[in-house]
Amino acid sequence: MVDPRIMCRNHLLGEHSEIHLFVWNIDAGHSVRGYIDKGLLEIHNLYDRHEDLARELRRRGYRHNSELDAKWKMAKKEGSIDRQKSLRALIGRCAKCRERYKRFAVTRNVV
Ligand SMILES: [Zn+2]
Ligand SMILES: [Zn+2]
Repeated sequence: MVDPRIMCRNHLLGEHSEIHLFVWNIDAGHSVRGYIDKGLLEIHNLYDRHEDLARELRRRGYRHNSELDAKWKMAKKEGSIDRQKSLRALIGRCAKCRERYKRFAVTRNVV
């Protein structure tokens, strides 16, 4: 749930794959309760988040042809991610994301 523009290639592609994996798992009837309880998943934002990541992937010239089913726009509200905590964790453990964040923060106000 970090601004996709500050994410390094690996993290951008990684989170994008995770979304498809979550959707696949939920459709298959598998429980994602653990992720919701740990504050790692917002069911109601899967669609919009996927759109944001896909847009950034295309902007960087990567091919993207894995759209989410439109039914995810209507997903029930469930789960909550602390965006500030996510940002701190990401730039705390990834030098590339940290570098992008620093460069980005010079010109924009990143939340
Ligand atoms: Zn996709
Ligand atoms: Zn990174």
